[in-house]
Amino acid sequence: MKIDILTLFPEMLEAALKTSIIGRAESNGLISINCVQIRDFAFNKHRQVDDYPYGGGQGMVMQAEPIFKAYESVTEGLSYKPKTIYLSPQGKTFRQSTAKRLAKEKHLVLLCGHYEGVDQRVLNEIVDMEISIGDFVLTGGEIAAMAVVDATARMIPGVLSSEMSFSDESHFDGLLEYPQFTRPAVWHDIKVPEVLQNGNHKLIEEWKREKAIENTFKKRRGMLRNAKLTQKEKKFVEELKKKN
Ligand code: SAM
Repeated sequence: MKIDILTLFPEMLEAALKTSIIGRAESNGLISINCVQIRDFAFNKHRQVDDYPYGGGQGMVMQAEPIFKAYESVTEGLSYKPKTIYLSPQGKTFRQSTAKRLAKEKHLVLLCGHYEGVDQRVLNEIVDMEISIGDFVLTGGEIAAMAVVDATARMIPGVLSSEMSFSDESHFDGLLEYPQFTRPAVWHDIKVPEVLQNGNHKLIEEWKREKAIENTFKKRRGMLRNAKLTQKEKKFVEELKKKN
């Protein structure tokens, strides 16, 4: 997958996305991340990319033309339109299901706004989808873009090594994950649950599923409405409700 990120602060993104698992995926050729400095497409001698908002109001607005030129620089000559996303507090909330869907795209272009936002005309011209990472306002779209790229890239086959499966992680199938433990087996006199140490895979899988349901019940009860549960698991939830 190719990901182009249009931003005024490429150094922020490069530092985060060139390290750890995502950095390794790029070195292995599974993804290619290219940060484009919008300021390089400014058309005045001061390299200014923002201006006062029409109609008055606070702050500055990013101008349409430098963004459009930056977009053209990554789409020129393509026979298709890459899925173009504007990171925005006004967008649809980003979810695990969004990451799974985006991971199937061959090319994404992400636009990070800054200041008071972006001239609406260029958004209308190039953007296919607006994504928010939550109901709060960030200074710029860069942190949101990092979250979207990270969560999406790890859904691409081969990005996570085989021992790091995502299929039993929180939100993958509508449940939160079960509690995790590592060595030592006893820490501060607290033991790792016996079942995880006995090597019986069937019992371990049952334990994990039960604890995932219990964890979801405790922390995010509303999620259980949409989780796929067997009849036995539904009964288990009813028992949890009676106890709590
Ligand atoms: N004036 C805009 C509004 O009220 O909708 C907010 C602008 S915000 C200060 C600057 C930039 O940060 C936005 O253009 C957007 O790219 C990014 N941003 C802020 N909050 C975000 C969020 N929750 N999710 C994704 N991007 C966000």
